[in-house]
Amino acid sequence: GIYLDYNASAPIDEAVLDTMIDVYRNHIGNADSRTHDYGDQARGIVENARKQVASLLGVSAGEVFFTSGATESNNIAIQGLEAYAVRSGKKHIITSSIEHKAVLETVKAMVTKGFEIDIVDPEQSGQLDPDKILSRVREDTLLVSLMHVNNETGIIQPIEKIGHFLREKNVLFHIDATQSCGKLVDELRNTPYDMLSFSAHKLRGPQGVGVLVLRKKKYKLPPVKAIMYGGQQERGIRPGTIPVALVAGCGKSCELAESTYADNRIKTQAVRDCIIGLLKESGIKYSFNGALEYCISNTLNLCLEGVSSEALMISTKNYCGISNGSACTSKNYAPSYVLTAMGLSPERIENSVRISWGPDTDINLLKTDFRKLIDIAKMLAQ
Ligand code: PLP
Repeated sequence: GIYLDYNASAPIDEAVLDTMIDVYRNHIGNADSRTHDYGDQARGIVENARKQVASLLGVSAGEVFFTSGATESNNIAIQGLEAYAVRSGKKHIITSSIEHKAVLETVKAMVTKGFEIDIVDPEQSGQLDPDKILSRVREDTLLVSLMHVNNETGIIQPIEKIGHFLREKNVLFHIDATQSCGKLVDELRNTPYDMLSFSAHKLRGPQGVGVLVLRKKKYKLPPVKAIMYGGQQERGIRPGTIPVALVAGCGKSCELAESTYADNRIKTQAVRDCIIGLLKESGIKYSFNGALEYCISNTLNLCLEGVSSEALMISTKNYCGISNGSACTSKNYAPSYVLTAMGLSPERIENSVRISWGPDTDINLLKTDFRKLIDIAKMLAQ
């Protein structure tokens, strides 16, 4: 079958797996237990991975902190500012209604701690209007937290413009780069930000590890504190034993992304062209959610007229991994809050699926399996 759910999790790269197996087999130490060579070796592996991540992002190794994934990184970036907010009296946070729950729910929870929040809606194109974000900035704005690429639509957000403005205004800027890290490499390098999150498994690393980048300003890190009590690992930002093999895998996936991202863009673009070609030749009635011109090359949010996404997913389940991007089980269907925020009708949302792929997606397999999917969709159309 064909796996078209890379935005949920991308298959691990063989070279990443080899790196991790070597660590599990041969480097058994705790990177913070340094009374022997085992610990020193583990520390060496962790610091090498930190350099690999830093190199991909164009930051210094001292600005990279390992976490359990983007969810935790987002939580630290937002909740970890509480003490500073109390000290500075800045208690206003701006985010958008299309963020991943790891940002949206965290920001919402800050209300109970006395924060004021502004949640900005996107345009129908799926993009946020930078002016709408910037017009909400106030004297007491502490943080703006926005994603780079939306996980459901693939729409790329104008973070560079927003970043420059916020830098001028001295407002902290956090980017959830989970869907863009390792893909839109130059764009991230060119954007001013204070904090950035991602998970390794979206760029063909292992699940369960991620990064929080904290950019220094005049040698000082952003004023975040740990949100868990524990040891001093990751310089106090993230307590808990560092999972050396996962971290090594994360570093390796970044190293690979750095050397392949330009090529990967061409490959994912070719897959997209193939999908659009298959849709065109099939004669099925289709359209895309979000403006294609702003869409990253590995994602499409596709509306098939009259075809229930649930019925389509169930009928193609055993050979085609697609999703409708929402927490949906057959028992409880919740229409996508992202598509809803873009102003799409409930009927349209019900007929929409997300497909996402990678540079290694097999075009020949795609042709056979996606054609099968289209045939099923035609039968389901009403
Ligand atoms: N942010 C975005 C944009 C995502 O797409 C995801 C994963 O789907 C996350 C955060 C959370 O990542 P994880 O579940 O690895 O913590």
